[in-house]
Amino acid sequence: MTGTPQRLVLATRNAHKVTELRAILAESVAGVELVGADAFPEVPDVRETGVTFAENALLKAHALARATGLPAVADDSGLCVDVLGGAPGIFSARWAGKHGDDRANLELLLAQLADVPEPYRAAHFACAAVLALPDGTERVAEGQLRGTLRYAPAGEGGFGYDPILQPDGETRTCAELTPDEKNAISHRGQAFRALAPLVAELLTPPPIG
Ligand code: IMP
Repeated sequence: MTGTPQRLVLATRNAHKVTELRAILAESVAGVELVGADAFPEVPDVRETGVTFAENALLKAHALARATGLPAVADDSGLCVDVLGGAPGIFSARWAGKHGDDRANLELLLAQLADVPEPYRAAHFACAAVLALPDGTERVAEGQLRGTLRYAPAGEGGFGYDPILQPDGETRTCAELTPDEKNAISHRGQAFRALAPLVAELLTPPPIG
């Protein structure tokens, strides 16, 4: 083996996500350097035309792997509400119309569910985490965090729909958990912990002899 670490590119420009995923993947993938998509400003963002979390994550990872010639990891996630047949789902980030307006998305969902009684407020966060190699090889891992939707937001932490999802077995919402507590049970944590050994398998050269 040479001293040059294998590089793996992560399909996000969010520095916080890069740090978080570096920590999860480091547990299984030693000697792999994780770089954010920001290191490749010339590579355009891909349109998310898939209809599942896995399809959208694969679109992002394959586009980045093709453009950079490096193995690429991507994820896609959202909130799925049982009584809404799984919506907002892949539309979670733009449920109220404008992409990434977390507060408007959460308020619209609460208004839509205002009359739904407690036993019918089950929902889950879902995440698909994928690896794509420049030769087209791909691996997919998924995670879910099940819970119940509150009638009003609670907690200052997290982002998105965190203030209204109370995980099963918890008395607090996701926004009231510490980052470590949330990572330990979250859909994203589960998906990336399941992906890590698959990354290790494809990126680590087999032992000689
Ligand atoms: P993305 O996968 O980063 O594009 O996230 C899609 C959207 O799903 C976000 O904008 C949030 O609205 C929602 N979402 C995904 N994961 C979480 C989470 O862990 N907490 C709260 N909202 C989330």
